[in-house]
Amino acid sequence: MSDCDVVVAGAGGAGLAAALAAAQAGRTVVLAEARETFRQGSNTAMSTSMIPAAGTRWQAEAQVTDSPARFLDDIRAKTHGQADPVVAVALTTVAAELVDWLADACGVPLELVTDFSYPGHSAYRCHSVPDRSGASLHRALLDAAANLDDLHLVVPARLVDVRTDERGAVRAAVLQRPDGSREEIDTAAVVLATNGFAADADLVGRHLPEIAGGVYHGGEASRGDALHLAERLGLDTGCLDAYQGHGSLAVPESILLTWAVVMHGGWLADAAGRRFGDETVGYSEYAVKVLARPGGRAWAVYDQRIHQACLAFKDYLDVVEAGAVRWADDLAQLAAATGLPVDALTATMNEANAAASGAGADRFGRTTWAGPLRPPFAAVRVTGALFHTQGGLLVDRHARVLRGGTPVPGLYAAGGAAVGISGHGAGGYLAGNGLLAALGLGFLAGRHAADHGSR
Ligand SMILES: Cc1cc2nc3c(=O)[nH]c(=O)nc-3n(C[C@H](O)[C@H](O)[C@H](O)COP(=O)(O)OP(=O)(O)OC[C@H]3O[C@@H](n4cnc5c(N)ncnc54)[C@H](O)[C@@H]3O)c2cc1C
Repeated sequence: MSDCDVVVAGAGGAGLAAALAAAQAGRTVVLAEARETFRQGSNTAMSTSMIPAAGTRWQAEAQVTDSPARFLDDIRAKTHGQADPVVAVALTTVAAELVDWLADACGVPLELVTDFSYPGHSAYRCHSVPDRSGASLHRALLDAAANLDDLHLVVPARLVDVRTDERGAVRAAVLQRPDGSREEIDTAAVVLATNGFAADADLVGRHLPEIAGGVYHGGEASRGDALHLAERLGLDTGCLDAYQGHGSLAVPESILLTWAVVMHGGWLADAAGRRFGDETVGYSEYAVKVLARPGGRAWAVYDQRIHQACLAFKDYLDVVEAGAVRWADDLAQLAAATGLPVDALTATMNEANAAASGAGADRFGRTTWAGPLRPPFAAVRVTGALFHTQGGLLVDRHARVLRGGTPVPGLYAAGGAAVGISGHGAGGYLAGNGLLAALGLGFLAGRHAADHGSR
C-alpha cells in the first residue's frame, strides 16, 4: 500500500462519506475496513436509513415547512439543551447540502418519508431510500466509492494507531491485518470512522450501566477503537453516557420492529396486559422502560391498518417473514396468542381506543394516535436493546478532533467515533441522529481533510 493524502478508518456511513468527499475533491484516499462482514455487519448496513435534514428540495416538493433553525430547536428540546452545541449547529446547517450531495454526487436514491413522523421531529424531515434499509444505503455508497480510481478500499485492515510529529500533527496511520502484520502509511490526515463502543461490554458497563442488561443489537466491530486512541493521545471526549436504545426489538427473532408501529397508533403492554407509559416520547428511552417490566419483555399491539402501513420497511418484512407476528380476530384470541390476561388486555384496549378516538384523556398523557385499533389485531413480543453509543471524541465544526480544546492538525472523527448530538443518556436521541452524525460529520471531515491532506 502506498502513501496517500487521507486515510479513513471504517467503511460504514461515516467512513464512506468522508472517503467519497475527499476523493471527489481529487485526493488519494485509503479506506481501511477492519471486518470482511462490514457489508451486513456495520451499523449503517443494519440501520433503517433515516437521514433527517431541514430545508431540502424534497421537503419543498412536498410543501413541508421546515428550516435548520427549527431542526436545531427540536434537537435542543429533545436533549434539554444538552446536545453538543457546535456539532448540533454544524449538522443541522449542513444537512440539506448533505442529502443533495448524497443524491446527486453519490447516487443514493433518496425520498422524503411523509407517512408518519418520528418522535420529536416537528416536521417531516427524514429522508430515506425506497426500502428503508441501511443495507441499500450502504450499498449505494459503496458503489459510488467503487467508481473513484483514487479511493482504495482495503479490507480487512484495522487502524491500530495514529502517529503524530513533534508539533502533534498527524503524520502516519498504522494498519493491522488479521495475521498481526502491520503497515505504516504516511499521510497528513486520518478520519476515525470506527463507530462507538457498544459491542464492548466493559465499556458499556462503565459508561452506560442502565442499559448494560439489554440485548446489544448493533455491529460487532463497535469496540471503542477511537476511544482507546483518545486515551493514548490525550484527546477530548464527551457525552460518553449517551446512547440509542430501542424499545421494540422482536424476540426471540432479534429483528427490529419499527417504531412506526407505535407512531401509526400501536402501543406496548407488559406481561400483566397493561401499558406502562406514553410510547410516543421516543423509542430510545423506551428500551430501559421495557427492560424494567417483568421478564424485560413487552408486547407491541397493533392492527391490520398499521401492519399495511409498516410493510414499507424492509425490517418489518423480515419480522413478518420470521413469523414473529401473532394475529387474532378478537381480544380473546389475542390473549390466547400472547398469554396476556384477557381482562386486563380488554381494559387496556378499551382505554387506549377511547384516548385514540378522543373520547378520553390518556392516563400517560399520550396525544399522538391515529384512531382506535380494530380487529384483526396483531402482536409482536419485544425487548429493550442497545443499538449504538452516541458519545465520543469532541470535534469542531469541521469534524476536527480536539485536544485540550484545540484541533489536532489532520485528525478527524465522524459518526459513532465522535460526540453526537444526543446530549446525555437515552432520551436525547432523535430518529436519524445516528446517520446524520455519521454521514454529516463524514462529509465535513472529508471535505476539510481534502484541503488539509493535499501534499
Ligand atoms: C438496527 C439499527 C437501526 C438503526 N436505524 C437508524 C436510522 O434509521 N437512522 C439513524 O440515523 N441511525 C440509525 N441507527 C444508528 C446508525 O446505524 C449509526 O449511528 C450509524 O450507522 C453509525 O455509522 P458509523 O459509520 O459511525 O458506524 P458503522 O456503520 O458501524 O461503521 C463503522 C465501521 O468501522 C469498522 N471498524 C471498527 N473499528 C475499526 C478500526 N479500528 N479500523 C478499521 N475499521 C474499523 C467497522 O467494522 C464498521 O464497518 C440504527 C442502528 C441500528 C443498530
